[in-house]
Amino acid sequence: MAADHGGPADGPTGGAVRYSPLADQFANVDEVFDALRALVRSGDFTLGRVVGTFEARFAEVAGTRHAIGVGSGTDAVKIALRAVGVGHGDEVITCANTFWATCGAIAELGARSVFVDCDDSFCIDPARIAGAITPRTRAIVPVHLTGDVADMPAIMAVAEQHGLAVVEDACQSLLGEVDGRRAGSIGAAAAFSMHPLKIINVWGDAGVVVTNDNAVDRQCRLLRNHGLVNRDEMALLGYNSRLDSVQAVVGNWMLDQVHDIVARRIDNAAYLDARLSSVPGLRLPRRNPRTRNVHLFYIFFAERRDALVQHCLAHGVEAKIHYPIPIYRQPALSHLGYRAGDFPVTDRHADSVVSLPVDQHLSRDQLDRMVEVVTDFYAR
Ligand SMILES: *Cc1c(COP(=O)(O)O)cnc(C)c1O
Repeated sequence: MAADHGGPADGPTGGAVRYSPLADQFANVDEVFDALRALVRSGDFTLGRVVGTFEARFAEVAGTRHAIGVGSGTDAVKIALRAVGVGHGDEVITCANTFWATCGAIAELGARSVFVDCDDSFCIDPARIAGAITPRTRAIVPVHLTGDVADMPAIMAVAEQHGLAVVEDACQSLLGEVDGRRAGSIGAAAAFSMHPLKIINVWGDAGVVVTNDNAVDRQCRLLRNHGLVNRDEMALLGYNSRLDSVQAVVGNWMLDQVHDIVARRIDNAAYLDARLSSVPGLRLPRRNPRTRNVHLFYIFFAERRDALVQHCLAHGVEAKIHYPIPIYRQPALSHLGYRAGDFPVTDRHADSVVSLPVDQHLSRDQLDRMVEVVTDFYAR
């Protein structure tokens, strides 16, 4: 999603179906500006009342005892991993198809990403984790990619057997569930992002760590604020990664809507499923009855994928690919020694997936237009 940042739809026909809903989402924000004016007058800019309110409300949404606001989703992964004991020289198992930030956060701690292939849910294949464990393995980071949720019960069982910590990268799955339990509430800690292209978005960068563990909570609060116990005492070397109060104001406004946003995404995906499931040439991912998939994007497998994407763009439907080159094959990680072909499911996805928007601001006409454009392509 790194290449997706902001920007209006810009297909050759003007973008009848844009990818990003941000212009609609923030079309009427007088309430936010009123709250911002109050914040500015209060001067309460660092970890003040508005951040505390946001954290309490976010914990309720995530289904956890604690939520700690931080500077970004990337920092949330990093701070959560460090709080559970990951450090220099440790290995951290994660998924070969994840978004860049998971591995960036692992590397910032001096730890090493060890990849495991995904399955057709786009999440880590739990059956392959044990084979990647070495004496240096310290933690597992399952990534709830695309809005679906990894098989946490199976992952927790492997982790317990081997004494490993689990930090969920839940940046793409706020309010997702597996077996009725919320994404982010199952591992030792979890990371969420409020980047403009996530389920809830702020006006820049922000992230949240959640945990049920009081000691992890305490550690994260120290880590995000220079390790300060109070104004004069520093318990450890931390970071400056506080949730910005301005973003907390926007975050509170978004939390009012989060249940509706997710319900709309799920409804839209069900509508697209019903209309696209019988189109020859494309295959929908299996819908897992154990999970609540919040559909950060509407992703499916397509024959002649690149031609389909071009067709969509040419007809004003802003299709995207998440992600055409999997992270394990990126030059930035060549030092890890992986080679093309090491993760065949990830590779197959990279060659065949397409994403369409499925957000809360799409009209029925826009959904129908996407179906029509995709159906026309395979009818030719
Ligand atoms: C977006 C994302 C992140 C990082 O979040 P930022 O807020 O952009 O730093 C981490 N992991 C995954 C899976 C993401 O999608």
